[in-house]
Amino acid sequence: MIDLRSDTVTKPTPEMRQAAFDAVVGDDVYNEDPTLKELEELAANKLGKEAALFVPSGTQGNQIAVLTHCQSGQEIILEAESHIFYYEGASISAFAGVQPRTINGTRGAMDPELVKAAIREDDIHLPETGLICLENTHNRAGGAIVSLENMKEIHRIAQENNIPVHLDGARLFNAAVASEVDVKTYAAQTDTVQFCLSKGLGAPVGSIIAGSEDFIKKARKWRKRLGGGLRQAGIIAAPGIVALKTMVDRLVEDHENAKFLASGLQEIKGLSIENNVDTNIILVNTKEAGLSSKEFLIKLKQEGILGVSFGPNTVRFTTHFDVTREEIKSVMEKVNKLF
Ligand SMILES: *Cc1c(COP(=O)(O)O)cnc(C)c1O
Repeated sequence: MIDLRSDTVTKPTPEMRQAAFDAVVGDDVYNEDPTLKELEELAANKLGKEAALFVPSGTQGNQIAVLTHCQSGQEIILEAESHIFYYEGASISAFAGVQPRTINGTRGAMDPELVKAAIREDDIHLPETGLICLENTHNRAGGAIVSLENMKEIHRIAQENNIPVHLDGARLFNAAVASEVDVKTYAAQTDTVQFCLSKGLGAPVGSIIAGSEDFIKKARKWRKRLGGGLRQAGIIAAPGIVALKTMVDRLVEDHENAKFLASGLQEIKGLSIENNVDTNIILVNTKEAGLSSKEFLIKLKQEGILGVSFGPNTVRFTTHFDVTREEIKSVMEKVNKLF
């Protein structure tokens, strides 16, 4: 199978497996796991934040951020197709008790003027705006890079109104590598950041949230409440250290493979590419071919290719380090034959 469903399907490298085997561990709920601490310090440094916390998943990291920043009954501003709104089972409402206020973005970016207009006034009828969430790269916008200028402008507006900003940077390293802007520079435009170790960076498990010392202290308690306090977690943190040290620069290859695949599929009659391929995600439209995304996926599976449905006529392909250039070529040949 050539698995283009997600960059989460990447398997740990031999070096990661060895690091897990060799990891010095302790009980992290007692703050005694040196490997986990090393990962958190490394991550905080990379992002230019005071402190960081390892969490089991990106979803939990985002939820902890919302729980830590907000009070129940507040409203949070976020993009209408953002992961936190679209793919997290309404947990912001179920757990943090906040109400989402969505803004339709352009290629994942919210218009700063619309964000400004959505901030609530002090009025007895209205909820308070507790948080603004950004997403970079933006998943449903096809791995789109949200520009630093856009983030700066929204950050400025947020600061003027005393509202914190959280970045869902599940794929922030993809944005950084593709735009040649340091992750620190993006992270500086937000109070807190979540990024995934388990996607393109290839680690088996986990995400990081980062922010001020005070924020992370409170976040640690929320993680415990949610059942995310882990014991000898150095075993899963060690591959994360390898991921941060060795897997960032190579994301360029995934981006090149995605562009290459998009250019090939574009040539096939009946298919079109919906997104500008900024990073490692391609959105293929099947409408002209008279196929639904589900029908296209069944045909692909028969050829040994996997993708995911992203809409009635949209299929998402995601490139990653477990898919080689040769396999990408074979996808192009097989899809070509199908049509
Ligand atoms: C994958 C993803 C998440 C969630 O990460 P999990 O580890 O799968 O829970 C959050 N935000 C974005 C943008 C993602 O792509």
